[in-house]
Amino acid sequence: MDIFELRTPQLTRRDFLKVAGAAVALLGLSQALTPKMVKAIEASAGKPAVIWLEGQDCAGCVESFLNSLEPPATSLLLDSISLRYCETAMAGSGYQAEEILAQTVAEGGYILVIEGAIPLAEDGRYCTIGGRTFKDIVGECAANAAAIICVGSCATFGGIPRSGPTDAVGYLYRGTQLHHHYDYLGEKPVINLPTCPLHVERLVAVIVHYLTFGTVPDLDQFHRPTAFYGYNQHENCPRRAHFEAGKYVTDWGDPEQQGWCLYLKGCKGPWANQDCWKRLWNNRTNYCIDANIPCVACSEPEFYESVSPLYVRQFDTELPGIGRVDIDKVMATIGGVVAAGVGLDMVISKATGRWKGNEDKKTKQKAGKES
Ligand code: SF4
Repeated sequence: MDIFELRTPQLTRRDFLKVAGAAVALLGLSQALTPKMVKAIEASAGKPAVIWLEGQDCAGCVESFLNSLEPPATSLLLDSISLRYCETAMAGSGYQAEEILAQTVAEGGYILVIEGAIPLAEDGRYCTIGGRTFKDIVGECAANAAAIICVGSCATFGGIPRSGPTDAVGYLYRGTQLHHHYDYLGEKPVINLPTCPLHVERLVAVIVHYLTFGTVPDLDQFHRPTAFYGYNQHENCPRRAHFEAGKYVTDWGDPEQQGWCLYLKGCKGPWANQDCWKRLWNNRTNYCIDANIPCVACSEPEFYESVSPLYVRQFDTELPGIGRVDIDKVMATIGGVVAAGVGLDMVISKATGRWKGNEDKKTKQKAGKES
């Protein structure tokens, strides 16, 4: 008997319809596909196996997943997919847990979910589990997986751990750069679902898509599904009218500024590509900007190093064809036009290249320390 199998109440057909309908909507597919998806979810009972690994992380993604109420992701995955190994959620531990992991890897054909960054420095010794490095565990599990889904900013691009001394990377990327540690040749699907933490709806939709079609949805240059990461935060922001009108929050205590643009408080929305503004978080209650928190661009490969300090406006930015620009100076030069928000918008809308922010500065600082 599989002692690690976690049981929850069985999904009803109504639940299946709800989940399939939500997945269709999330992926922007035709509603006519809902019955096909229901069939695929029902037929998948007990299969495929899922291995959920955690490396350098805070367990925020698995927490986000387990706390989800809508869609009922926990019920869906625990009832229709065999969650064989997940350190935070499984009942087993020690040798038994490691044995189940080894058995599942030997069987092959599972979905591998990776949470947390992978430290490569010092041969990976900064993160070991069961006496083995996380770097090696990921490599072994990836070799026999049918598909790999990296969840959260750490597993995708290195996230917060990347700014530390462990040479932490995502499965494919170190920030914006492919690192080729695992000799990825594109022979199996790798889907990146960044943000800090994971938004569970995106994971559920990708798994349902895989169960139904045996393929993954359209991906962008960083292996992110375009259905979720094909939108710019700034372009779709509910505060955009205030940006255009030159109304920026400067004093959190001023009630008149409630709902104004957060750019001067460090908002990185112009560089962030995601659908948080329509997907919403906390079971569709709100999201960062609705809660008066500037967007920190956690969907982007440059997070966290290049966008820190998170809540400070970064004046230096790289504009394609123009070079590095001090936005303060630009504002002072354009004067009244910028006061109306138009000049600043023009400057930001030209910043279509990758955000460089503090990355160069920090790289130089590191190089200075080493020399
Ligand atoms: Fe919204 Fe931020 Fe753009 Fe202001 S700068 S409009 S708060 S995304």
